Amino acid sequence: MVELKTEESISAMRAPGRVVAQALAAAREAAAVGVSLLDLDRAARAVLAGAGASSPFLGYRPHFAPVPFPGVVCASVNDAIVHGIPDDYRLRDGDLVSIDCGAELGGWVGDAAVSFTVGRPRPADLRLIETAEAALAAGIAAARPGNRIGDIAHAIGTVCRTAGYGIMEDFGGHGVGRTMHEDPGVPNEGRPGRGMQLRPGMVLAIEPMLIAGGTDEYRCDGDGWTLRTLDGSRAAHVEHTVAITADGPRILTAP
Ligand code: MG
Ligand code: MG
Repeated sequence: MVELKTEESISAMRAPGRVVAQALAAAREAAAVGVSLLDLDRAARAVLAGAGASSPFLGYRPHFAPVPFPGVVCASVNDAIVHGIPDDYRLRDGDLVSIDCGAELGGWVGDAAVSFTVGRPRPADLRLIETAEAALAAGIAAARPGNRIGDIAHAIGTVCRTAGYGIMEDFGGHGVGRTMHEDPGVPNEGRPGRGMQLRPGMVLAIEPMLIAGGTDEYRCDGDGWTLRTLDGSRAAHVEHTVAITADGPRILTAP
């Protein structure tokens, strides 16, 4: 079921959205060569705690997970695409890091992700991240009343495929509201004019996941959470929570 939010609810959802943006900024600021992924998680935790927000990631245990998620962020490095567990791995020069974070405040949830490099960046990584951001922007631009889910999916997929990248199969965006994962699903590739019609009051997490090597396959780590590219190439993941309004898309997780 898709819950349509009122104007007031969408305004209220800006609060957790802003906290997510601040937590991501703190994690990114903390990231440097020699800093551990646990340090990035701590930086995000401090922001959530300071705002009085709770984490929808911490303790989250979907059907596929062998253990509850132990962090407030997912930290996915290099060939890790999404769902990386923040651990004692220390960042190295040239790493590509994706941080995904959620916050719950006032009974509403926000969900967003950023990708960036640490130290001296590889040009190929910068291009991958730029393309992921362009795909996200294209998906957001298509998130307007009268369009359909397939229009968002097509916009994202076209940017990724045109650049020659793979798109992670099986995973994509989702509705956001009182909980983190709600209907409808928002695929990262699809046919225009297909799927559910977009209406004012829908709130969607839009989240392209790109694979540099050009294939779509992934594998799961022994930890049961971290999803990595099958070909070992690097991946990027970016995400915003976006409200569909009569005036067009409103990014609720903007800084
Ligand atoms: Mg997310
Ligand atoms: Mg999400």
